[in-house]
Amino acid sequence: MPNSIRYLSPKMICLLAAFILAASLSVLSLAIEGDWKLPIIIFGVTFALSYFVYNYFLQIFIGRRLKLIYKFIYNTKAGKKEQFFYDKILPQKTIEQVESDVTQWAEKKSTEIEQLKVNEQFRKEFLSNLTHELRTPIFTVQGYVHTLLDGAIEDDQVNLKFLKNASKGLDRLVQLASDLEQISALEAGNNPILLSNFKIMNLVKDTYEELMLKAKEKNITLLFKEDADEHLMVHADREKIRQVVVNIIENAIKYGIVDGTITTGFWELDKHKVYIEISDDGVGIEEQHLSRIFERFYRTDKSRSSAIPGTGLGLAIVKHIIEAHGQIINVRSKVGVGSSFGFSLAKSKN
Ligand code: ADP
Repeated sequence: MPNSIRYLSPKMICLLAAFILAASLSVLSLAIEGDWKLPIIIFGVTFALSYFVYNYFLQIFIGRRLKLIYKFIYNTKAGKKEQFFYDKILPQKTIEQVESDVTQWAEKKSTEIEQLKVNEQFRKEFLSNLTHELRTPIFTVQGYVHTLLDGAIEDDQVNLKFLKNASKGLDRLVQLASDLEQISALEAGNNPILLSNFKIMNLVKDTYEELMLKAKEKNITLLFKEDADEHLMVHADREKIRQVVVNIIENAIKYGIVDGTITTGFWELDKHKVYIEISDDGVGIEEQHLSRIFERFYRTDKSRSSAIPGTGLGLAIVKHIIEAHGQIINVRSKVGVGSSFGFSLAKSKN
């Protein structure tokens, strides 16, 4: 199609075609008659008539089809707005604009299809990860309960140990259910952020107290950085940030070394932001895992094969909460040296 025609609306094309026909006939009649009167009449009549006929057929063959295309791509139902679009806007559209509308629609659809494919892949991975995480504790519990029922219950040497192991498997299942509940509530968005102002030092102190016993099991000392400002106030959802701090410190204990230390520091990043960093001197994380540890169910091979229990959901929950606050989280780590998890929060305005 010549480029100049692409920029014309169907109405303008009719006018042009009618003009060409009327002009040709009137020039012909002028050549035969040698007089202006008849050619002018022929021009007028031919122009009006052919414009009417062209427009009529164009409406039938192109207009109605275009209307159908628009109905399809916009998924519209007849309403006043749509009628206005079909009566007033559509006839003015050039072929170029129609082409661009259809291309835009096709691009939108292809993005939607891509997204659906990603979601489908995501759903498959989620299901297979979930199955994998469920299998281990379920089979553990099943194994110990069956062994006990098959007679081990009478054996005082092992019965208590087997029961404790079964109970550990159940604890893992409960942890998995609670992590899953949290993550799905966060993703569904039915767990709104309730902002308040609070001292970050107090929140970390409370968490230290809560996890003191766990830390003692490995003789880990819980400390604050010397320059941590105890008056620093943040503006965030206290309960959710408590969850973030709990998850990070629990990991620092789990993956920490015996007699190790966990240190928390917080600093003012600028007038509006505070940066909180929790560091341990534990096993550390290999570089190739660093970018993935915030993914759901992601556990490094080491932690998977070790006896350290975990769901691989803790850091995914942390990331969700921090991002729901519009803030960022990052990790620095070196194998054998330790890991530092840092995140920003809004500074309280008072
Ligand atoms: P998990 O339930 O396995 O602890 P998380 O989502 O909390 O799941 O953590 C994901 C993985 O990141 C862990 O399996 C572990 O390999 C690694 N990780 C997290 N925190 C630490 C840490 N402080 N030190 C070393 N590795 C860590």
